[in-house]
Amino acid sequence: MVAVSFKLSLRLLFVSTSVGVLGTGQGGGVELTIACLARELLRRGHDVLVAAPTGSRLDGVPIVEIPGRLQVPAQSQERDAPISLPPDPVLGNLWDYARSRQDKWDAIVNFAFDWLPFYLTPFFRRPIAHFISMGSTGDALDGAMARVAERYPGTVGVYTRTQAATFTFGDRCRILGSGIDLAQYCFNDRPEAAIAWLGRIAPEKALEDAIAAARQANVPLRVFGKLQDEAYWQRIQRDFPDAPFEYGGFLPTDRLQAEVGRCRALLMTPRWVEAFGNVAIEALACGVPVIAYQRGGPAEIVCDGKTGFLVEPDSPPGLVDAIARIDTIDRSACRRQAEAEYSLPAFCDRWETWLHAVVACQQSAL
Ligand code: UDP
Repeated sequence: MVAVSFKLSLRLLFVSTSVGVLGTGQGGGVELTIACLARELLRRGHDVLVAAPTGSRLDGVPIVEIPGRLQVPAQSQERDAPISLPPDPVLGNLWDYARSRQDKWDAIVNFAFDWLPFYLTPFFRRPIAHFISMGSTGDALDGAMARVAERYPGTVGVYTRTQAATFTFGDRCRILGSGIDLAQYCFNDRPEAAIAWLGRIAPEKALEDAIAAARQANVPLRVFGKLQDEAYWQRIQRDFPDAPFEYGGFLPTDRLQAEVGRCRALLMTPRWVEAFGNVAIEALACGVPVIAYQRGGPAEIVCDGKTGFLVEPDSPPGLVDAIARIDTIDRSACRRQAEAEYSLPAFCDRWETWLHAVVACQQSAL
Protein backbone atom coordinates (compact mmCIF):
# COMPACT_ATOMS: atom_id res chain seq x y z
CA MET A 1 0.00 0.00 0.00
CA VAL A 2 1.25 3.49 -0.77
CA ALA A 3 1.00 6.00 2.07
CA VAL A 4 -0.33 9.29 0.77
CA SER A 5 0.15 12.33 2.93
CA PHE A 6 -1.22 15.74 2.10
CA LYS A 7 -2.06 18.81 4.07
CA LEU A 8 -5.17 20.85 3.60
CA SER A 9 -4.65 24.48 2.85
CA LEU A 10 -5.44 26.83 5.68
CA ARG A 11 -7.10 30.24 5.81
CA LEU A 12 -4.96 32.35 8.12
CA LEU A 13 -5.34 35.86 9.44
CA PHE A 14 -1.99 37.18 10.66
CA VAL A 15 -2.38 40.00 13.16
CA SER A 16 0.84 41.98 13.15
CA THR A 17 2.88 43.59 15.89
CA SER A 18 1.30 46.81 17.13
CA VAL A 19 4.53 48.65 18.02
CA GLY A 20 5.49 49.47 14.43
CA VAL A 21 4.47 49.87 10.82
CA LEU A 22 5.70 46.85 8.82
CA GLY A 23 8.67 47.81 6.67
CA THR A 24 10.04 50.48 9.03
CA GLY A 25 12.07 48.20 11.35
CA GLN A 26 10.30 49.57 14.43
CA GLY A 27 8.81 46.12 15.06
CA GLY A 28 12.24 44.41 15.07
CA GLY A 29 13.01 40.93 13.75
CA VAL A 30 9.40 39.76 13.90
CA GLU A 31 8.76 41.93 10.81
CA LEU A 32 11.10 39.72 8.80
CA THR A 33 9.53 36.58 10.29
CA ILE A 34 6.03 37.72 9.30
CA ALA A 35 7.18 38.61 5.76
CA CYS A 36 9.05 35.34 5.15
CA LEU A 37 6.30 33.13 6.55
CA ALA A 38 3.42 34.90 4.83
CA ARG A 39 5.15 34.65 1.43
CA GLU A 40 6.05 30.98 1.84
CA LEU A 41 2.60 29.98 3.15
CA LEU A 42 0.98 31.79 0.21
CA ARG A 43 3.37 30.06 -2.19
CA ARG A 44 2.25 26.73 -0.70
CA GLY A 45 -1.39 27.50 -1.47
CA HIS A 46 -2.60 28.76 1.89
CA ASP A 47 -4.78 31.85 2.10
CA VAL A 48 -3.01 34.51 4.18
CA LEU A 49 -4.03 38.07 4.99
CA VAL A 50 -1.92 40.32 7.22
CA ALA A 51 -3.72 42.90 9.37
CA ALA A 52 -1.15 45.58 10.23
CA PRO A 53 -0.88 49.26 11.18
CA THR A 54 -1.63 51.79 8.44
CA GLY A 55 1.33 52.38 6.13
CA SER A 56 2.59 48.78 6.40
CA ARG A 57 4.12 47.25 3.27
CA LEU A 58 4.98 43.61 2.49
CA ASP A 59 5.89 42.81 -1.12
CA GLY A 60 3.68 40.06 -2.53
CA VAL A 61 1.48 39.74 0.56
CA PRO A 62 -2.09 41.07 0.91
CA ILE A 63 -2.39 43.54 3.77
CA VAL A 64 -5.36 45.16 5.41
CA GLU A 65 -4.24 48.45 6.94
CA ILE A 66 -5.67 49.27 10.36
CA PRO A 67 -5.48 52.83 11.72
CA GLY A 68 -4.70 53.88 15.26
CA ARG A 69 -1.88 54.80 17.61
CA LEU A 70 1.05 52.46 18.09
CA GLN A 71 1.84 50.69 21.36
CA VAL A 72 4.92 51.56 23.41
CA PRO A 73 7.41 48.63 23.13
CA ALA A 74 7.18 46.40 26.22
CA GLN A 75 10.96 46.28 26.70
CA SER A 76 11.10 50.03 27.32
CA GLN A 77 8.82 49.72 30.38
CA GLU A 78 9.43 48.61 33.97
CA ARG A 79 8.65 44.98 34.89
CA ASP A 80 5.77 45.97 37.17
CA ALA A 81 4.28 48.54 34.76
CA PRO A 82 0.48 48.34 34.43
CA ILE A 83 -1.18 47.51 31.10
CA SER A 84 -1.38 50.60 28.92
CA LEU A 85 -3.18 51.58 25.74
CA PRO A 86 -3.11 55.00 24.07
CA PRO A 87 -6.34 56.67 22.90
CA ASP A 88 -7.51 55.09 19.61
CA PRO A 89 -5.09 52.17 19.97
CA VAL A 90 -4.08 50.30 16.82
CA LEU A 91 -3.80 47.17 19.01
CA GLY A 92 -7.48 47.42 19.98
CA ASN A 93 -8.47 48.24 16.39
CA LEU A 94 -6.51 45.24 15.01
CA TRP A 95 -8.26 42.88 17.41
CA ASP A 96 -11.68 44.44 16.75
CA TYR A 97 -11.05 43.70 13.08
CA ALA A 98 -9.96 40.12 13.87
CA ARG A 99 -13.04 39.54 16.05
CA SER A 100 -15.52 40.88 13.51
CA ARG A 101 -14.05 38.79 10.63
CA GLN A 102 -13.01 35.67 12.55
CA ASP A 103 -15.43 33.26 10.85
CA LYS A 104 -13.67 33.74 7.50
CA TRP A 105 -10.48 32.14 8.88
CA ASP A 106 -9.39 28.73 10.18
CA ALA A 107 -7.03 30.37 12.65
CA ILE A 108 -5.80 33.79 13.72
CA VAL A 109 -2.08 34.18 14.32
CA ASN A 110 -1.04 36.75 16.89
CA PHE A 111 2.39 38.39 16.47
CA ALA A 112 1.89 41.16 19.05
CA PHE A 113 3.98 40.97 22.20
CA ASP A 114 1.19 42.52 24.21
CA TRP A 115 -1.45 41.73 26.78
CA LEU A 116 -4.69 42.29 24.86
CA PRO A 117 -4.61 39.34 22.38
CA PHE A 118 -3.91 36.91 25.23
CA TYR A 119 -6.65 38.39 27.38
CA LEU A 120 -9.13 38.20 24.47
CA THR A 121 -8.40 34.59 23.52
CA PRO A 122 -11.31 32.97 25.46
CA PHE A 123 -13.74 35.42 23.82
CA PHE A 124 -12.93 34.23 20.27
CA ARG A 125 -14.70 31.38 18.46
CA ARG A 126 -11.72 30.75 16.20
CA PRO A 127 -8.42 29.38 17.54
CA ILE A 128 -5.59 31.84 18.07
CA ALA A 129 -1.98 30.73 17.62
CA HIS A 130 0.22 33.10 19.61
CA PHE A 131 3.79 33.64 18.42
CA ILE A 132 5.83 35.22 21.23
CA SER A 133 8.75 37.15 19.75
CA MET A 134 10.63 38.30 22.87
CA GLY A 135 11.70 36.99 26.28
CA SER A 136 9.84 37.95 29.45
CA THR A 137 9.68 41.71 30.01
CA GLY A 138 6.86 42.28 32.50
CA ASP A 139 4.61 40.66 35.06
CA ALA A 140 1.18 41.62 33.72
CA LEU A 141 1.88 40.26 30.24
CA ASP A 142 3.58 37.13 31.63
CA GLY A 143 0.44 36.38 33.63
CA ALA A 144 -1.86 36.72 30.61
CA MET A 145 0.41 34.54 28.48
CA ALA A 146 0.69 31.90 31.20
CA ARG A 147 -3.10 31.63 31.46
CA VAL A 148 -3.40 31.01 27.70
CA ALA A 149 -0.54 28.48 27.71
CA GLU A 150 -2.32 26.62 30.51
CA ARG A 151 -5.87 26.76 29.16
CA TYR A 152 -5.09 26.27 25.44
CA PRO A 153 -2.19 23.79 25.31
CA GLY A 154 -0.11 23.87 22.14
CA THR A 155 -1.19 27.32 21.02
CA VAL A 156 1.90 29.29 22.14
CA GLY A 157 5.03 29.30 19.98
CA VAL A 158 8.46 30.91 20.48
CA TYR A 159 11.78 31.20 18.64
CA THR A 160 14.22 29.49 21.04
CA ARG A 161 14.63 27.37 24.18
CA THR A 162 16.49 30.10 26.07
CA GLN A 163 13.69 32.53 25.25
CA ALA A 164 11.08 30.02 26.50
CA ALA A 165 13.09 29.58 29.71
CA THR A 166 12.47 33.24 30.62
CA PHE A 167 8.78 32.35 31.19
CA THR A 168 7.26 30.23 33.99
CA PHE A 169 5.26 28.40 31.28
CA GLY A 170 8.34 27.83 29.10
CA ASP A 171 7.87 24.06 28.98
CA ARG A 172 4.45 24.59 27.36
CA CYS A 173 5.88 26.58 24.44
CA ARG A 174 6.47 25.15 21.01
CA ILE A 175 10.02 25.92 19.83
CA LEU A 176 9.80 27.05 16.21
CA GLY A 177 13.28 28.48 15.54
CA SER A 178 13.57 30.88 12.63
CA GLY A 179 14.33 30.88 8.93
CA ILE A 180 14.90 33.24 6.03
CA ASP A 181 14.70 33.13 2.25
CA LEU A 182 18.34 32.23 1.63
CA ALA A 183 18.05 33.06 -2.08
CA GLN A 184 17.95 36.72 -1.09
CA TYR A 185 21.37 36.56 0.61
CA CYS A 186 24.57 36.33 -1.48
CA PHE A 187 27.65 34.55 -0.19
CA ASN A 188 30.63 36.94 -0.10
CA ASP A 189 34.09 35.48 0.36
CA ARG A 190 35.99 38.75 -0.11
CA PRO A 191 35.34 40.86 2.97
CA GLU A 192 36.77 44.31 3.60
CA ALA A 193 38.37 45.29 6.92
CA ALA A 194 35.17 46.62 8.51
CA ILE A 195 32.90 44.78 10.94
CA ALA A 196 29.12 45.19 11.16
CA TRP A 197 26.49 45.80 13.82
CA LEU A 198 22.82 45.48 12.82
CA GLY A 199 19.58 46.07 14.66
CA ARG A 200 17.33 48.49 16.43
CA ILE A 201 19.36 51.26 18.07
CA ALA A 202 17.97 50.92 21.58
CA PRO A 203 19.53 50.35 25.04
CA GLU A 204 18.79 46.59 25.21
CA LYS A 205 21.08 46.09 22.19
CA ALA A 206 24.15 47.77 23.81
CA LEU A 207 25.60 49.26 20.63
CA GLU A 208 28.06 51.11 22.88
CA ASP A 209 29.86 47.81 23.63
CA ALA A 210 30.41 47.18 19.91
CA ILE A 211 31.72 50.72 19.43
CA ALA A 212 34.07 50.38 22.40
CA ALA A 213 35.40 47.09 20.97
CA ALA A 214 35.86 48.57 17.48
CA ARG A 215 37.77 51.50 18.96
CA GLN A 216 40.04 49.20 20.97
CA ALA A 217 40.60 46.82 18.02
CA ASN A 218 41.02 49.81 15.70
CA VAL A 219 38.68 48.45 13.01
CA PRO A 220 35.89 50.40 11.31
CA LEU A 221 32.36 49.53 12.49
CA ARG A 222 29.38 49.90 10.17
CA VAL A 223 26.03 50.27 11.93
CA PHE A 224 22.67 49.68 10.19
CA GLY A 225 19.20 49.63 11.68
CA LYS A 226 16.18 51.46 12.93
CA LEU A 227 17.02 54.43 15.13
CA GLN A 228 14.49 53.64 17.85
CA ASP A 229 15.76 55.63 20.82
CA GLU A 230 17.00 59.07 19.79
CA ALA A 231 18.26 60.07 23.28
CA TYR A 232 20.28 56.86 23.55
CA TRP A 233 21.82 57.50 20.11
CA GLN A 234 22.77 61.08 21.07
CA ARG A 235 24.42 59.75 24.24
CA ILE A 236 26.47 57.25 22.23
CA GLN A 237 27.68 59.95 19.87
CA ARG A 238 28.65 62.14 22.84
CA ASP A 239 30.46 59.28 24.61
CA PHE A 240 32.44 58.10 21.56
CA PRO A 241 33.38 61.26 19.63
CA ASP A 242 36.47 59.73 17.99
CA ALA A 243 35.46 56.06 17.61
CA PRO A 244 35.70 54.56 14.09
CA PHE A 245 31.98 53.94 13.45
CA GLU A 246 29.52 55.15 10.85
CA TYR A 247 25.74 54.83 10.68
CA GLY A 248 24.32 53.74 7.32
CA GLY A 249 20.60 54.04 8.19
CA PHE A 250 17.87 51.40 8.03
CA LEU A 251 18.20 49.42 4.79
CA PRO A 252 15.84 47.03 2.98
CA THR A 253 16.98 43.39 2.91
CA ASP A 254 18.60 43.45 -0.57
CA ARG A 255 20.86 46.38 0.33
CA LEU A 256 21.43 45.20 3.89
CA GLN A 257 22.72 41.79 2.80
CA ALA A 258 25.13 43.41 0.32
CA GLU A 259 26.52 45.66 3.07
CA VAL A 260 26.86 42.95 5.71
CA GLY A 261 28.39 40.55 3.18
CA ARG A 262 31.28 42.99 2.73
CA CYS A 263 32.10 42.88 6.45
CA ARG A 264 34.61 40.67 8.21
CA ALA A 265 32.24 39.84 11.08
CA LEU A 266 28.95 40.76 12.73
CA LEU A 267 29.01 41.86 16.38
CA MET A 268 25.95 41.06 18.53
CA THR A 269 25.98 42.68 21.95
CA PRO A 270 22.53 42.23 23.50
CA ARG A 271 22.18 43.36 27.11
CA TRP A 272 18.94 41.36 27.41
CA VAL A 273 18.04 37.73 26.66
CA GLU A 274 17.65 38.15 22.92
CA ALA A 275 14.78 35.87 21.84
CA PHE A 276 16.51 34.90 18.61
CA GLY A 277 18.43 37.53 16.64
CA ASN A 278 17.44 37.30 12.98
CA VAL A 279 20.48 39.41 12.09
CA ALA A 280 22.70 36.47 13.11
CA ILE A 281 21.29 34.12 10.49
CA GLU A 282 21.19 36.89 7.87
CA ALA A 283 24.93 37.44 8.41
CA LEU A 284 25.68 33.69 8.33
CA ALA A 285 23.75 33.43 5.05
CA CYS A 286 26.18 35.96 3.55
CA GLY A 287 29.18 34.00 4.87
CA VAL A 288 29.80 36.46 7.70
CA PRO A 289 30.93 35.01 11.06
CA VAL A 290 29.06 36.17 14.16
CA ILE A 291 30.75 37.32 17.37
CA ALA A 292 28.09 37.38 20.08
CA TYR A 293 27.66 37.57 23.81
CA GLN A 294 26.98 34.10 25.16
CA ARG A 295 23.36 34.59 26.17
CA GLY A 296 19.91 34.22 24.63
CA GLY A 297 19.20 33.29 21.02
CA PRO A 298 22.67 34.03 19.58
CA ALA A 299 24.17 31.48 21.98
CA GLU A 300 21.92 28.82 20.39
CA ILE A 301 22.82 29.92 16.86
CA VAL A 302 26.60 30.50 16.75
CA CYS A 303 28.82 27.39 16.66
CA ASP A 304 31.70 28.67 18.76
CA GLY A 305 34.97 28.43 16.83
CA LYS A 306 33.23 27.27 13.62
CA THR A 307 30.82 29.98 12.53
CA GLY A 308 31.88 32.71 14.94
CA PHE A 309 32.71 33.17 18.61
CA LEU A 310 30.64 33.31 21.79
CA VAL A 311 32.20 35.59 24.37
CA GLU A 312 31.57 36.56 27.97
CA PRO A 313 28.46 38.79 28.10
CA ASP A 314 28.88 42.54 28.64
CA SER A 315 32.62 42.36 27.98
CA PRO A 316 34.04 44.51 25.15
CA PRO A 317 37.55 43.00 25.73
CA GLY A 318 36.06 39.58 24.88
CA LEU A 319 34.78 41.04 21.61
CA VAL A 320 38.22 42.51 20.85
CA ASP A 321 39.89 39.16 21.42
CA ALA A 322 37.39 37.46 19.09
CA ILE A 323 37.87 40.11 16.39
CA ALA A 324 41.59 39.34 16.43
CA ARG A 325 40.85 35.65 15.72
CA ILE A 326 38.13 36.13 13.12
CA ASP A 327 40.21 35.02 10.14
CA THR A 328 40.34 31.50 11.59
CA ILE A 329 36.64 31.13 10.68
CA ASP A 330 35.84 29.60 7.29
CA ARG A 331 33.17 31.84 5.72
CA SER A 332 31.73 28.99 3.66
CA ALA A 333 31.00 27.12 6.93
CA CYS A 334 28.81 30.09 7.92
CA ARG A 335 26.76 29.90 4.74
CA ARG A 336 26.51 26.11 5.14
CA GLN A 337 25.13 26.48 8.66
CA ALA A 338 22.47 28.92 7.43
CA GLU A 339 21.48 26.48 4.68
CA ALA A 340 21.39 23.47 7.00
CA GLU A 341 19.54 25.05 9.93
CA TYR A 342 17.72 28.21 8.86
CA SER A 343 16.12 27.60 5.47
CA LEU A 344 12.67 29.06 4.96
CA PRO A 345 11.10 25.76 3.75
CA ALA A 346 12.18 23.96 6.94
CA PHE A 347 10.96 26.86 9.11
CA CYS A 348 7.64 26.95 7.27
CA ASP A 349 7.25 23.15 7.64
CA ARG A 350 7.42 23.58 11.41
CA TRP A 351 4.85 26.39 11.26
CA GLU A 352 2.50 24.43 9.01
CA THR A 353 2.59 21.46 11.38
CA TRP A 354 1.97 23.74 14.35
CA LEU A 355 -0.93 25.61 12.75
CA HIS A 356 -2.59 22.40 11.56
CA ALA A 357 -2.36 21.08 15.13
CA VAL A 358 -3.88 24.27 16.57
CA VAL A 359 -6.81 24.08 14.12
CA ALA A 360 -7.31 20.31 14.58
CA CYS A 361 -7.30 20.66 18.34
CA GLN A 362 -10.09 23.21 18.26
CA GLN A 363 -12.13 21.15 15.78
CA SER A 364 -11.91 18.08 18.01
CA ALA A 365 -13.05 20.17 20.99
CA LEU A 366 -16.27 21.24 19.17
N1 UDP B 1 17.16 45.20 9.71
C1 UDP B 1 16.82 45.74 8.48
N2 UDP B 1 17.56 46.77 8.00
C2 UDP B 1 18.64 47.27 8.65
C3 UDP B 1 19.00 46.68 9.90
C4 UDP B 1 18.24 45.66 10.41
O1 UDP B 1 15.86 45.32 7.85
O2 UDP B 1 19.26 48.21 8.15
C5 UDP B 1 16.31 44.13 10.26
C6 UDP B 1 16.96 42.76 10.20
O3 UDP B 1 16.75 42.18 8.94
C7 UDP B 1 16.26 42.00 11.32
C8 UDP B 1 15.75 43.10 12.25
O4 UDP B 1 16.08 44.34 11.64
O5 UDP B 1 15.16 41.27 10.81
C9 UDP B 1 16.35 43.00 13.64
O6 UDP B 1 15.85 41.86 14.22
P1 UDP B 1 16.54 40.98 15.33
O7 UDP B 1 15.77 39.69 15.39
O8 UDP B 1 18.00 40.86 15.11
O9 UDP B 1 16.32 41.80 16.69
P2 UDP B 1 15.01 42.45 17.39
O10 UDP B 1 14.88 43.83 16.82
O11 UDP B 1 13.84 41.59 17.06
O12 UDP B 1 15.31 42.49 18.84
